[in-house]
Amino acid sequence: MDKRLFYLLSQVMAETQADAVYLGLQRPGSTLVDIIAQHINHPHDDNTYEEQAVHGWIRNALPDLNIRAEPIIIDQANQLPVGFKSALLIPLIMLSEITSGVFICSTQEDAFNAEHVDATAILGELILTVLENEHLIERLITTEAIATTAQAIARNPYPQSIIHILRDYLFETHISFCAIALYGPTGGDSHGKPFEYIEVKGDWSRQLGSQMITGTQIKLDELMQLHDALRQQEFLQIQGMDGEDAPIARLDAFSKLLMNATRLKSLVLIPLETRERRLGLLVIGSDTVREFNWYELRTYQIVSEFLTISTMTESLQREHDFVQQGRAALLEAVTDAVVMTLPNEHANILTANEHFQKLFNLSVFDTQGKSLWTVLENTQMPKQLRDDLIETWQALSPSDHRVMRGEFVMKDERSDERTMQWYSAPVFQRNSVLGRIYTFHDVSSERAEENLRYELLSRISHELRTPLTSIKGFAEFILEMTRDELPDLAREYIEIILSSARHLNSVYDDLIEFTRANVGEIELYFTENYVQDLVIETVARLEFSHKANNQRVLMNLDDDLPAIRFDHDRTAQILSNLLINAIKYAPHNSEIRITTSQILTPEALPISAPPATITPCMLISIIDEGAGISREDAEQIFLPFYRTKDAAARKIEGTGLGLAISRGIVELQRGKLWAEPATPQNRGGRFFFTIPFS
Ligand code: ADP
Repeated sequence: MDKRLFYLLSQVMAETQADAVYLGLQRPGSTLVDIIAQHINHPHDDNTYEEQAVHGWIRNALPDLNIRAEPIIIDQANQLPVGFKSALLIPLIMLSEITSGVFICSTQEDAFNAEHVDATAILGELILTVLENEHLIERLITTEAIATTAQAIARNPYPQSIIHILRDYLFETHISFCAIALYGPTGGDSHGKPFEYIEVKGDWSRQLGSQMITGTQIKLDELMQLHDALRQQEFLQIQGMDGEDAPIARLDAFSKLLMNATRLKSLVLIPLETRERRLGLLVIGSDTVREFNWYELRTYQIVSEFLTISTMTESLQREHDFVQQGRAALLEAVTDAVVMTLPNEHANILTANEHFQKLFNLSVFDTQGKSLWTVLENTQMPKQLRDDLIETWQALSPSDHRVMRGEFVMKDERSDERTMQWYSAPVFQRNSVLGRIYTFHDVSSERAEENLRYELLSRISHELRTPLTSIKGFAEFILEMTRDELPDLAREYIEIILSSARHLNSVYDDLIEFTRANVGEIELYFTENYVQDLVIETVARLEFSHKANNQRVLMNLDDDLPAIRFDHDRTAQILSNLLINAIKYAPHNSEIRITTSQILTPEALPISAPPATITPCMLISIIDEGAGISREDAEQIFLPFYRTKDAAARKIEGTGLGLAISRGIVELQRGKLWAEPATPQNRGGRFFFTIPFS
């Protein structure tokens, strides 16, 4: 008992001639009234029953006394406990939250009057000052403890260390247990999933040490009761678990576990939660039966708020780390060079994998945060190549939704040539562009194979030329010289030889053409022409063929199209190839549509247009009413010798080289040639090619 209070109470006693004086105090939020000091003339010989009766009376009377806020004189013995006949009650109103009062009792009847009230007024005020002082000091200490705890938690936000911090800085001696339990599962793969259990993440018990029950999980469906209770209150106090009589059966599974495992008698559970999110529980226990007082509970609540914040930060950090690590692992796992840039004009590098650094001979520091353009400028690539790449990439605005691709050749450290295929695409989050990703794939071996194939083809075709010319020449000669002298059968055979040689010759021509187109050996002669005229000429030249099939060629030509520069004969060759195919593969009595149009911006291109189709350009489409091309065949048909099953089954004559040659020439003019797969809405063969304006 505080000495000052004891002294003051004895003074009250002397002033009033009372037999006993008690000082009662009730803290806010608590139902308990503590008798914090007393002075009794004749103690009731250790009679705890009597003592309890006095305390019970004070507990009941105190709230009423404080509401009235005036001294009360009681002179009816039946309102007083244990033989007191009269009493004077003095309210002490302090700091609004706390109620207290002095209870002065006498075994004499009518022992108190107004004079006593006056005589004790000053003493009452002195008692009040002492109480307020203590209260303030208590607050100050608590605040300091909270501040120290908060700082320590911020430095080390892991559950087990938080528990040790609480133990060292905050807990008074009667606290013998503490645990932090969090709802789970949490982590990278648990996004948005409802919680399934609560798991003890750290614990300490005075008797058993640390981490005795850490890792224990309890399914949430066993905790409904606890949940409901916590929804209605800010914390939950469970007390009075004493020996055999403990009403443990009524407890939820979680408290039961804690009580059993750590032999506790009182527990307080404080939820760790924000308005949007429940995180878990802070549990504090004592091995004595007790009610946690208001100060303690307030302190734990404040600490639990810090804990909530630090737990959230920690779990966000963990999720963030998880995503980051996943991303980094993914980036390193791919064998291509990958770089991702921010959507700004400098294209600052957000992340780049090791392959990217290796490809361009850079260190991590050369890339992190730097502008992609500056990074490229500082590489050892030839200047022209660097400038071309930067120019191509800068042509797209940072938020452009389109993808681009291309190829370039560079020398590696050993001066070997490497062909790199690049691909650039925006990275979206919902509808906004987060950045742009560039990948670089080494296609040197693919290109080497292709070159070998072209070389082989060109060798074979050259080897074929002489024998083929002789066979054709001799056959023609024999037919001419001995036409009538030859027996019918022999003449027929020679005619077969001649027509086969002619077919072989056309295959041979195609082969040569294909090889030349693909190694860029074809020279182009650019002149100013009207695409419309070219279409009209070509259709007229092939009139005989489509008329024979009773097909109508409809030309949808825009008369206003300007003249542009392209190779007239080569473009006519492309158009002929496409028109001949339409005639060959579409049924008799059908329509073939040729359309020309001017495309000024990339958005105006058909959706099927390949990436990096250059605009402005002229677009020519040839659409027939045949079976068309399937999605699987749409790219394949441009490979040399590739023929669809349908074409082969119908025994339609062809070498499978026409489209390969045409694509080669279109690309020499920097245009694109592609086929749109047939769909129920867009039937028939659908071919498109472009001629860029410049
Ligand atoms: P070829 O016609 O000599 O076989 P191409 O290279 O011109 O060779 O065409 C390759 C293949 O593409 C053809 O064999 C055919 O299977 C398919 N094809 C081309 N044009 C059409 C079309 N208009 N309709 C359907 N299939 C076509």
